Amino acid sequence: MSEQTVNHATSTGGPVPDAATAGGPKAIWVFIEQVDGAIADVSMELVGRARELADPLGYAVVGILLGHEVNGLAPDVIARGADRVLVADHPELAHYRTLPYARVLIDEARRGRPEILLVGATPNGRDLAPRVASALRCGLTADCTDLQIGDHHIRRDDRTVKNLLFQIRPAFGGNLIATIVNPDTRPQMATVREGVMRMPDADPTRAGEIERLEPAFQPGDFALEVLDRRRRESTVRLKDAAVVVAGGAGIKDQAAFDALRELANLLGGEVGASRAAVDAGLIERDHQVGQTGTTVRPRLYIAAGISGAVQHRAGMAESSKIIAINTDPNAPMFQIAHYRIVGDAAKVVPMMIKALRERSAEDAPVWAAEDEEEGAADGAGGAATGASEGAAR
Ligand code: FAD
Repeated sequence: MSEQTVNHATSTGGPVPDAATAGGPKAIWVFIEQVDGAIADVSMELVGRARELADPLGYAVVGILLGHEVNGLAPDVIARGADRVLVADHPELAHYRTLPYARVLIDEARRGRPEILLVGATPNGRDLAPRVASALRCGLTADCTDLQIGDHHIRRDDRTVKNLLFQIRPAFGGNLIATIVNPDTRPQMATVREGVMRMPDADPTRAGEIERLEPAFQPGDFALEVLDRRRRESTVRLKDAAVVVAGGAGIKDQAAFDALRELANLLGGEVGASRAAVDAGLIERDHQVGQTGTTVRPRLYIAAGISGAVQHRAGMAESSKIIAINTDPNAPMFQIAHYRIVGDAAKVVPMMIKALRERSAEDAPVWAAEDEEEGAADGAGGAATGASEGAAR
C-alpha cells in the first residue's frame, strides 16, 4: 500500500470534463460515509458494485473518505475492492456537515474527474449528493436499486454513447422501473439504497494506494456549528436478520401482531412490516420493509397479511425463501412466494407457533437445518401448511 499527500486549491464553476478528455485514467468514485469511525455498510456495498462495473471497462475504483482520525479505515476500503482511497482527515470533518463535506467532494471531483460518483442513500448521503451534483452541474439519480453499464442510442442526434451508467430505480410510485442515463456531463452521479447491493468480502491481501488530501475550506463553509449531537440507535436489526416475520394490513390488531413477534422470536428472527401496518400504528417505522423502508435478504421471509404491492416487494423479493399467508388466493405476494398458505393469519400464525414449540424441544431451529436452501421453508411451511388450506409451490 503506498501513500502520498495532495494539497489542492479550490476551483470554481463549470461541469467536470470527462477523464478521457483530461487525459487521466477513468474511475468510479464512491463516497465512503463513516459515522464515529464506522463505515456505513452501503459505502462498502457500493465499492463492491463499483468493482464489478469497473473491471470489464478497465476503470479504477476510488473511495473518498472524509472525517477526523479516519486514516485507519482506508485499508478496509481497499480490502473491499478499491484501487485508491482519497482521505480527507481534518477536525472540521469530524461530524457530518453539508458545507465542509460538499467542499471537499466538489473540489476533489473537479480535480480527479471521475466518470461515475456513487453515494449511499443515507440521510447524510441524500443531503450531500444533490449539493455536489448541483455544483458540478451533472445531474443525479436518487435512490437507485440497481446499477449497470450499457450503451445508449440517442435517437434525436442519431448517436450512440457507449459504456454509460444505467441508473435504475422505481418511478411513478414504484409502478415502473426507470433506467436513467446521463450521456453528456460527468460524473454520472447516483445515490443507492442500503442493502440492495451485496456486501463484498474483505480481501486483506489486496493492494491499493492511500492519498491524503488537504481540504481547502472557505470561511463560509462553517456557517453551521454543531452544538450537540444525540443519536437514537435503532434496536431493530432487520437488514442482517436471517429470518424476517412481517405483518401487513391483514394483521388486524396488536394481539395478532404480538403473535408475529413470538413467531419471530422462536425462529431467532426480526419482525418486519408493510407500510400499511406501520401507518395503522401496529408497529414502529423502523420495522418497515420496502421501497421506503429497509431492504432485506433473509434466508426466510414470512409475509403474513401482506398483499405484495410492488413497493413492499422491492424490499424483500431477494429473500431466499418466502412463505406468504393470505386469505386472498390471488394476492400478488403469492406470485413470488415459494410456499403459499391461503388462510387467516390470525389462525395460521398461532398454529405455526404451536408446531415450532413442539419441535423446538427436540430440534434445532428449522431454518438452521443443515440444508440451508431447503430447510427453512420446508420446516416452517410444512408446519403451517398442515394447519391451513396451504398450498406449497
Ligand atoms: P394491503 O394492500 O391492504 O393488503 C392486506 C392483505 O392482507 C391483502 O392481501 C388481504 O387479502 C390480506 N388479508 C386480509 N385479512 C387477512 C387475514 N386475516 N389473514 C391473512 N391475510 C389477510 N409499502 C410497503 O410495505 N413498504 C414500503 O416501503 C412502501 N413504500 C411505498 C412508497 C411509495 C412511493 C408508495 C406510493 C407506496 C409505498 N408503499 C410501501 C405502500 C404500498 O403501495 C402498499 O400500500 C402497502 O405495501 C400495502 O400494505 P399491505 O400489503 O399490508 O396492505
